[in-house]
Amino acid sequence: MALVLAVATTPSFGQGKGSKKGKKAAQTKVQNDNSKKDSTAINDSTTAIFEDAVIDKTVREEAPKGPVMLTDPKRNLPSKVWYGIQFSDDYVKKPSVTLDSLPDEITIKIVKDYSEFCFPMKNVITSPYGWRERWDRPHRGVDIALNTGDPVRCAFNGVVRIAKSFGGYGNLVVVRHYNGLETVYGHLSRVNVKQMQVVKAGDVIGFGGSTGHSTGPHLHFEVRFQYEPFDPEWILDFKNYTLRTRTLYLNKTYFGITKRNRTYKADKSIHKERELPKAGDKAKKKTEYYTTKRGDTWEKVAKKFKVSETQLKTMNPDIMGKLPVGEEIRVH
Ligand SMILES: [Zn+2]
Repeated sequence: MALVLAVATTPSFGQGKGSKKGKKAAQTKVQNDNSKKDSTAINDSTTAIFEDAVIDKTVREEAPKGPVMLTDPKRNLPSKVWYGIQFSDDYVKKPSVTLDSLPDEITIKIVKDYSEFCFPMKNVITSPYGWRERWDRPHRGVDIALNTGDPVRCAFNGVVRIAKSFGGYGNLVVVRHYNGLETVYGHLSRVNVKQMQVVKAGDVIGFGGSTGHSTGPHLHFEVRFQYEPFDPEWILDFKNYTLRTRTLYLNKTYFGITKRNRTYKADKSIHKERELPKAGDKAKKKTEYYTTKRGDTWEKVAKKFKVSETQLKTMNPDIMGKLPVGEEIRVH
């Protein structure tokens, strides 16, 4: 089902309430001097994001049992300030939307408190975000290890935009959140939600699998803003399975993957907040990567990092056959 409600590309800037509270909540940092106008606009939109969040709560209280479908989409769609009332399942990325009109840095309140977040799949990354030398194409998300049938959970509160089979993604769920982000869950064996369904952080949106363009069971997980992906590791901590920060200072340089910036790594440290809670659970194994050099074989690399060849191959399920040179692989 394709649902395009109307054309409203421009966020309704200027309509936000100029209340003291709203102004205080807005912390947009604008590095671009000639975008003062945008600065005001973003401030207002930050206020509006929280107005949306309140609507979500109301919907839930009215119909607490069973799947809740969004009523009155024109009014209640999440993040209307960023996306208008366009809510189509025809595309993951809307081609006509660009980040050009945005300031260099955008402040996003991801959650008010950590209870509004759930780690989608607590397991190791088997393939990071970035340029994939081997396929000569970008990888717009992270691959997370799982077994077929494992429940995959929604990261934040929001409304399901896509819930269907979608090309290389296989069975796909895309959720638009009240915080302005969208999260993408690919290769599912089964989709457990419907388009327009109101979901909460922690809801099982589907079950892990290997549908679409996939070499083995894993979750392909993306985080997008304005349809544009950025490294999920900017906000998700895969060592402690926590959210790194409640407030994301989203810099424009985080977007886009090209051959030139393929070595780009999220500097995760800058997003750490002191009050981050300790993960309630174990799993504190350090993940380590290594870039293969000429002459490296599975055996050699395994020896070098004191793991077995089988372990090494399991950690890198995307690589078939011989080890390619210049490939970043997981070694711990
Ligand atoms: Zn992937």
